[in-house]
Amino acid sequence: MPKHPKVLITSFDGAVWSNLIPIAKAGIMPNLLKLIEKGSYGNLESTIPPLTPPAWTAFMTGCNPGKTGVFDFYESQEGTYKPTLTTNQSIQVDTLWKVLSNNGLRVGVIDVPINYPPPEVNGFIVSGWERPSNKKVFTHPPELGEKLIQQLGDYPICLRTFDRQGTKDVDFLSSLIDITSKVGEAALWLLETEDVDFFMVHFQTTDIIQHGYWHQIASLDFNSSDPVLQKIWDFYRCLDKYLGLIKEKVNNEGTFFLVSDHGFGPVRRRMSTNVWLQEHGYLKLKQDLGTQIRTQVKSTAIKMVNKVDALAKLKNRIKRKSEEDLEQRVIVPRASFDPIDYGETRAFSSIGTVYGTIQVNQLGREPQGIVSQKEAEGLKDEMAEKLKNVRDPITGELFIHSIHRKEEIFTGPALNKIPDLIIIPHSGFYLISGISEKDLFLEAHSLSTGNHIKEGIVAIDGQLSNTIDLSQAKITDIVPTILDIFKLTPLNYLDGKSLLASNNVPCNVSKA
Ligand SMILES: [Zn+2]
Repeated sequence: MPKHPKVLITSFDGAVWSNLIPIAKAGIMPNLLKLIEKGSYGNLESTIPPLTPPAWTAFMTGCNPGKTGVFDFYESQEGTYKPTLTTNQSIQVDTLWKVLSNNGLRVGVIDVPINYPPPEVNGFIVSGWERPSNKKVFTHPPELGEKLIQQLGDYPICLRTFDRQGTKDVDFLSSLIDITSKVGEAALWLLETEDVDFFMVHFQTTDIIQHGYWHQIASLDFNSSDPVLQKIWDFYRCLDKYLGLIKEKVNNEGTFFLVSDHGFGPVRRRMSTNVWLQEHGYLKLKQDLGTQIRTQVKSTAIKMVNKVDALAKLKNRIKRKSEEDLEQRVIVPRASFDPIDYGETRAFSSIGTVYGTIQVNQLGREPQGIVSQKEAEGLKDEMAEKLKNVRDPITGELFIHSIHRKEEIFTGPALNKIPDLIIIPHSGFYLISGISEKDLFLEAHSLSTGNHIKEGIVAIDGQLSNTIDLSQAKITDIVPTILDIFKLTPLNYLDGKSLLASNNVPCNVSKA
């Protein structure tokens, strides 16, 4: 029997207390109920934007996106308008796994996003759901992947929100339950066979189910005879089973964390930033006939593909993923063809999901920049002033909560990876950066009725649980807290701070 890890983290992507507490209290998640009754819990404030790649990167580094360089699923590259996919190699500061490894501690990390390609650590890593293929090396050490597949029969990559297209809900939900079970079994097997000081297992399926089934989950209708709702609660039962089994692997001297990278809430409407920029004369599309035909043909082709019954597609989905390239594992589909006429465009939105972004097409910085550095400041003010007045077309409510220049909210040497303006919408609204939309406002996508909010979750159990202050916990606080638990020297460049009370004096733990 291997030794018990001193710190064990389980993470549920996008988990939010507004759902989990009622689900736990309804008897569907007894292990979670025990955890919050016995330990302490609170909200964990996510990054700006509250999005999987920047949030998990902030979680595993203790730093804001201005230092990590990870702001979105995509990253801007100097000298081109085409963003590239964010990977583990985009991260510009050491991760917790690296710091612990450098201090002679052994780590085990399963499925945490932005860990592909798998980094070398003292211990083992299984890459997250952005890994392109099980045929490529997705673990460190490399042979672990093969062993994992042998042990479990297969090791599926998590489905994506839009893989649901055309499939029966119960089939899609069954697949999410299967994937959850496999990740749980992988965690138990590795905890039973490997000696580690630190262990973390991540479940991505919690994000996918909330995107697709937000309204059903938020109905909290636990007695419904609807097979879809029953399957949803089966998913949470399965998740809870593994939460309980994994948590048992920490003994009395260890500390257990349950965390999420952001929370979830309903989507009411989306706004296309590029359409807004176009309507206000800041952005121009190419006018030639070729472009127009190409855009038209493309959208017709997309509609045709969407009509294809995808049930068979889903059945082969997990298998087929092993053939896919990383570029096809993208979360936000991007057109390979860019219709923007940059020679006539003063500002555009290139990357950004959930929150909006605007990049000035700046002379000397962008490949075809036309706005001087001096003009850029005035242009940012002008656009921010106009954006403040955007109203929801149905309810008339103000759409935008606030607009920030990147240097107002981020610090660090990777600021060049972040767009010039960050647009934070009011709750229930969000902005998109795509270039294929024609309308300024769009209803919530029928396959994604939930979206991210900044309030994630944190719960702690173990010896230290009443000495950790969760009243204002931020996602960047986890790394300094864990370094504190291991009694390692604090890292002075971190943005977070340890949540552990000095001298282990019990603090007044606030309950969410
Ligand atoms: Zn996430």
